[in-house]
Amino acid sequence: MIQIPQQIVDGIIQQALAELPNEACGLLAGRENVVEKQYAMTNIDNSFEHFSFDPAEQFQVLRSARGLDLKITANYHSHPNTPSRPSQEDIRLAFDPDIFYLIVSLAAEIPVLKAFEIQNGVSTEVSIQITSEKYKHEI
Ligand SMILES: [Zn+2]
Repeated sequence: MIQIPQQIVDGIIQQALAELPNEACGLLAGRENVVEKQYAMTNIDNSFEHFSFDPAEQFQVLRSARGLDLKITANYHSHPNTPSRPSQEDIRLAFDPDIFYLIVSLAAEIPVLKAFEIQNGVSTEVSIQITSEKYKHEI
């Protein structure tokens, strides 16, 4: 299970819509499986069927997260035209078994966000618990 604030879920979907027709991508930082921060990133592939992070930007994000005492908990990207499950390429390129992989699909009328763990070439869907900002402030 991964916990994501509503505001960040909305942010991922907004970015995915804004970057159509290309895939959008980014990183999520937090503690354990609780996401606290979204980093929208540039898809340097400029493609509707794959993405790559900008290495320099990725370095900045890692440094920023470390400065906030957060770890990268997930990466995310959009599928403009296909369902929200990892493609063969997504699975092949999923090098980190310790993070979650989120995919937002824009293929249907309503965006669909799903989370996966990818280990040894096998992807397993994990549930997403959406927390509201209000709840977060009450903790
Ligand atoms: Zn993909």
